[in-house]
Amino acid sequence: MDPTQPRTGEVDNQPPPFAPRDLWTHDVALREALAREGASVFADRVATYGALAGGTLYDLSFDAHRDRPRLRTHDARGERLDRVEFHPHYHAVMETAIAHGVAGLSWMEAATPGSHVARAALSYLHYQAEPGSSCPLTMTHAGVPVLRREPGLHEWASKAAAPHYDPREVPIQAKTGITLGMGMTEKQGGSDVRANTTTARPVPATGDDPGEPYALAGHKWFMSAPMSDGFLVLAQAPGGLTCFLMPRRLADGAKNAFALVRLKDKLGDWSNASSEVEFHGARAWRVGEEGRGIATILEMVMLTRLDCMLGSAGLMRMALDQAIHHCSHRVAFGKRLIDQPLMRNVLADLALEAEAALALSMRVARAVDAAPRDPSEAALARIATAIGKYWICKRTPAFASEALECIGGNGYVEESLLPRLYRQAPLNSIWEGSGNVQCLDVLRALSRDPGTGPALWQELQCDGGGEPCAAALQALRAPLHDKIPIPEPAARTFVESLAQTLQASILLRANNPLANHFVATRLATPHAQNYGTLPLEVPLEQILTRAR
Ligand SMILES: Cc1cc2nc3c(=O)[nH]c(=O)nc-3n(C[C@H](O)[C@H](O)[C@H](O)COP(=O)(O)OP(=O)(O)OC[C@H]3O[C@@H](n4cnc5c(N)ncnc54)[C@H](O)[C@@H]3O)c2cc1C
Repeated sequence: MDPTQPRTGEVDNQPPPFAPRDLWTHDVALREALAREGASVFADRVATYGALAGGTLYDLSFDAHRDRPRLRTHDARGERLDRVEFHPHYHAVMETAIAHGVAGLSWMEAATPGSHVARAALSYLHYQAEPGSSCPLTMTHAGVPVLRREPGLHEWASKAAAPHYDPREVPIQAKTGITLGMGMTEKQGGSDVRANTTTARPVPATGDDPGEPYALAGHKWFMSAPMSDGFLVLAQAPGGLTCFLMPRRLADGAKNAFALVRLKDKLGDWSNASSEVEFHGARAWRVGEEGRGIATILEMVMLTRLDCMLGSAGLMRMALDQAIHHCSHRVAFGKRLIDQPLMRNVLADLALEAEAALALSMRVARAVDAAPRDPSEAALARIATAIGKYWICKRTPAFASEALECIGGNGYVEESLLPRLYRQAPLNSIWEGSGNVQCLDVLRALSRDPGTGPALWQELQCDGGGEPCAAALQALRAPLHDKIPIPEPAARTFVESLAQTLQASILLRANNPLANHFVATRLATPHAQNYGTLPLEVPLEQILTRAR
């Protein structure tokens, strides 16, 4: 090579490949959280999945995401198919996830305390590798307790919890494992599901019906994972809005009477198919009483909301990990980026946010785990899910954008993971109840579920947090302890304060080495609008060492 000519083909000053990377070993905050929240007994299983998520699944995820699912409405003869075709790597991701318990570990190991916490850790790890497939995984997980309500649907519940993935289009009797979807949102109303117009008409039962049969007529404007074996659907029965299980295939193998109209052309979440669907007398079985549809499906929605928190915490972690990796190798202006003082501030600020997001998500997972045994934990799970769903999911888009910018131009290019994370980031804030809906739910919980205020107040113990924590608690005392209602327009400000005080409290009680920095930068002074604005006295080295 002629040394006088500018170099072209050589690669210099670019980081080595990010993967394979053991997402468990690298994540001290996750390892501590799993132990703290009572799931050490499952550590080996989570560790195994952490290695897979940052290795095999990470590799498979690129094709699963890029080669978007395609809808085939008809076959060559004009018969309706209503089938969605995926890249084979999507199926490989689903198979691995289900085999390792991302959808079912908490139900398969229900007798062991901590199983919900362990599955939460799996969900957090999975989202880092392939977030689109997290949608069917979480719906399958969350549908199980709803199906268990009906003795006739126990086969469905146990096959949804089973560690077997079987994408074949056959009746569930021929399968050892199944997946579930959910259909609530209609054109005229998503948040306000009472506006649903889909009807459910009772029809005569046959020997094949595992529950009371109805015929569904109407539509759903969003129904994700339409290749699922069954869907929990809301429809207007004679007695009011009711929950139903609608199978994809009937016991005799016939296709159920619903048609996939089209797949949504979405901003992100590309590996996951989200459909519009019409019901033409589709057979479905009632779950819960007529008129109790919202209450029945709420149990499912509470669990999917927890997964929104875990997913967003996972997305933060992966974005941070990518940013730190890049900045640890890239040199600009004579120093590695991670040694540039202002970049250190950005990365440390992101690390604080990611750690607090995980800590809150895993604490809520423990509350869910303990809920059947402890009414106070059940009350905490009820309200903290809405608090965390609002705050963590809302913080994620700005987080992803900042992490993307740390990587510079490469971060904006599809071959890096960051564009995928950036497109995915707003979604958890929208589905399963958007931001405002969560904030209003916090107010509703406080006014209607008398246990929630005391459970939250008890959790908000900020010993060691000094004056900033004491002041934050004092401000929350009136609504939580003295039951003074918060006006609706102030709900976001209130929930933001609850979320950050709760995060501080969890970190403080865990003796987390970053707890005081979190308090100092989130509670003591109002945090500046952008990341990278930590005050000068915060020890950036300590935070970055832990994050790495
Ligand atoms: C990719 C994707 C996949 C989806 N998959 C599914 C699925 O599988 N099954 C399913 O049932 N749904 C699904 N959804 C739908 C999703 O759950 C809804 O979009 C969501 O609940 C919001 O409902 P909406 O779109 O009707 O918006 P709207 O209800 O019209 O809400 C619009 C905005 O108004 C706010 N708002 C609503 N009420 C109030 C109020 N009282 N005060 C203040 N603000 C309010 C909301 O927070 C939101 O920000 C999916 C959505 C997306 C984007």
